[in-house]
Amino acid sequence: MVLTRPYVGRFAPTPSGALHLGSLAAALASYLDAKSVAGKWLVRIEDLDPPRQIAEAADNILRTLEGFGFDWDDEVFWQSKRSDAYEVIISKLINNGLAYACSCSRKQLVNNVIYPNTCRDKLKSAKDAAIRVRTPNLEYQFEDRVQGLFIQKLAEEVGDFIIKRRDGLIAYQLAVVLDDAEQGINHVVRGADLLDSTPRQIYLQELLGFPMPNYLHIPTLVDSDGYKLSKSHCSPFITTNKASQLLVYALQILGQKVEKDLVLEPPLQILNWAISHWQSESIPKKRIVIIEDKFSITTVS
Ligand code: GLU
Repeated sequence: MVLTRPYVGRFAPTPSGALHLGSLAAALASYLDAKSVAGKWLVRIEDLDPPRQIAEAADNILRTLEGFGFDWDDEVFWQSKRSDAYEVIISKLINNGLAYACSCSRKQLVNNVIYPNTCRDKLKSAKDAAIRVRTPNLEYQFEDRVQGLFIQKLAEEVGDFIIKRRDGLIAYQLAVVLDDAEQGINHVVRGADLLDSTPRQIYLQELLGFPMPNYLHIPTLVDSDGYKLSKSHCSPFITTNKASQLLVYALQILGQKVEKDLVLEPPLQILNWAISHWQSESIPKKRIVIIEDKFSITTVS
């Protein structure tokens, strides 16, 4: 008998505003991918950055998810409660020589796309400094279930990257890796705008001895002016009074063959139908999907 670990997936919104159609597509894809194999679906609020986070946005996100019929397993996980765990790992990485303090100012780096390793071997104090991870001169790669093989030369294309900002805020790249491991996430389903971040996360998993999750990146939704739908840029937010229409629309964006009358059903029925008909192979292999208007979908690669 082959025993495989049960599927554990997640949706991890940053509470910087209300959910938009792109977040709904990510929530829906991660939910259906987990529930279609009787897996767990967890919700993690990525509230690492208080200045950017709008009061009540997290609560609003959770209520909206409920209104769309999503039902998460376990308690909601809050990154704001994890500061101590992040600090322990940062100290460990510094002590092992895998990360270092960087006191370069933004102004000093303004002409550099890739960090020029100025502080790499200077053994500076971590006080009042950013912390960077050393990147090796190696290729990191993974096979995305939708986007296919993705390869990145970390040192050349990304460079030594920040895991803690000078102002004390923990960087997304570190928190996501620690929390995916802490929550036992073995399947990450999210937007393709994070494809480029994945090799950094795989490298951190390797440094910290965590297993690598399986990855699936859905296309990022952009508006007709080419802007990514995003919470912080005030993209039109979704409301539960159009839940059925929006769910069906998101299913179509995800390439699912939706029955004509599905839109007449309440959200819960739509989700149940979608769980039993979910086909991740039908998700368009595109990095971007342009949303022209509510009912016509144009895709570009
Ligand atoms: N917090 C990120 C966002 O709201 C998602 C992070 C992830 O899924 O890894 O876009």
